[in-house]
Amino acid sequence: MIYTCYKKLDELGRIVLPKDIREKIAVTPGEMLKLDVEGDRIVITKAEKNCIFCGKTGDLRTLEGKSVCKNCIKKLNQA
Ligand SMILES: [Zn+2]
Repeated sequence: MIYTCYKKLDELGRIVLPKDIREKIAVTPGEMLKLDVEGDRIVITKAEKNCIFCGKTGDLRTLEGKSVCKNCIKKLNQA
């Protein structure tokens, strides 16, 4: 199902994602989004979380509010 709405860009180039859309894709304020530009279309998706050290996705733990992979945690423990 395609959901369509119209939003006006403000003077700084921002738009607000309506609450029902945020709930639909389950994003909360402060969460990272990924924008893919395909010709004249912009596709916004939830960004996958990456390890802050090596960029790897998957098998992540949260350390002081940051995502860190198991390997980097091991390296940190050895340092
Ligand atoms: Zn890592």
